[in-house]
Amino acid sequence: MAPGVSFGRTVFRSPLLFSGRVSRPAGRTYRPVAVPPVYRSFQKASAPSKVPDFAFVFDIDGVLLRAATPIPRASEALSLLQSQKIPFILLTNGGGTSEAARVAELSDKLQVPLDLANFVQSHTPFASLEAYKGHGDAKGEAVLVIGGEEGGDVCRKVAESYGFKNVITPGDLYAAHPDLWPFSKHLLEYYRKHSRPLPAPVYRGPHALSPGSDAALRNHLRCTCILVFNDPRDWGLDTTIVTDLLLSHQGYLGTTSPLNNHPSLPNKGYQQDGQPPLYFSNPDLWWAARWHLSRLGQGAFRETLDGLWRSITGGEGNGVILHKEVWGKPTQLTYTFAENVLGSWRGKMLGAGTGCGLEGLRNVYMIGDNPESDIRGANNYQSPNGTSWNSVLVKTGVYLDGSEPSCPPKAIVDDVFSAVEWGMKHSGWK
Ligand SMILES: [Mg+2]
Repeated sequence: MAPGVSFGRTVFRSPLLFSGRVSRPAGRTYRPVAVPPVYRSFQKASAPSKVPDFAFVFDIDGVLLRAATPIPRASEALSLLQSQKIPFILLTNGGGTSEAARVAELSDKLQVPLDLANFVQSHTPFASLEAYKGHGDAKGEAVLVIGGEEGGDVCRKVAESYGFKNVITPGDLYAAHPDLWPFSKHLLEYYRKHSRPLPAPVYRGPHALSPGSDAALRNHLRCTCILVFNDPRDWGLDTTIVTDLLLSHQGYLGTTSPLNNHPSLPNKGYQQDGQPPLYFSNPDLWWAARWHLSRLGQGAFRETLDGLWRSITGGEGNGVILHKEVWGKPTQLTYTFAENVLGSWRGKMLGAGTGCGLEGLRNVYMIGDNPESDIRGANNYQSPNGTSWNSVLVKTGVYLDGSEPSCPPKAIVDDVFSAVEWGMKHSGWK
């Protein structure tokens, strides 16, 4: 049975992670990465006679890769752990492509064989949102997926691989109704290349609803959930559509809820009328890209929506907040998910039935470049299994060497290889 993690109302069971599928394409070979000389005799001498009571969790961007380029000594760090049979998983706030494609790409770039079962992207836990997957029989009901390449179509396919039915994108809506947002018409041809027909027509009747309106709405497009998979590319279009849906009656695009700004209702009636829940896959305000300064990420889009929501509703001064779910590092939910994946991978790697899941796992070393996500998450995480999470900050990404980290790590080291050395030494591994 696939492991499950309960968090509030959500139970995580990701079929992707525990299917045992290995992403290494058939026929692909990997050039072995040299383990540095200082470890070679040690590597031979110690076909590890004992089970390591520690493991590593690596962020990717700014730790293993910078943009698409491997960071020096990253491959050696992973190879060293593999040679010592020390478990690790990759935990990234990145995404926007399928887990299988990303693992294959990383294996190729780092020249280290990686496995789908030790890999978690920011949106991987979305696979557990069974309630919104639909059954394909309610044709007008759809999940809206936002962000990613090719007008969101790549993320649509990832969502479909998770089991979601009737997945639509802002590009689908825009291609069908360019008047939705008058300022992206130069992108219309681009969107049309990647769009699909909507599963049901958009409601275009009177937006002020009256008794009996529900009959008129039947068979129109209804959005049951909004999933921000990856960093949005066309913020004007995306914020417009999300705002429309958050103000709608029951998620029917083209309507407005009669409950909005109702003085006697909770949250002044906003988001109290069956509007779709809003999920973000990660909270990162910044990320390390090819440009020498960090770039705005998905968290910046969320802040933009929050600001708009305050302006439209009166915000907290009017007793209104924006209800939303933010996943990804540093949330407890994502670290709980990651620890479960790590336990499953450790059991698989070291031998199921030998107590090598999460049993006896004393220390986890979270290696990251972002104090606000990697470090804060590890520092705040409360393991239900009694495992101690130790944060190690590297200088190869978002963190600027010499500055004061906004969240202090347990150690600051030059790069990922030094971080591995630090963790092994901390756990007394010889
Ligand atoms: Mg990073």
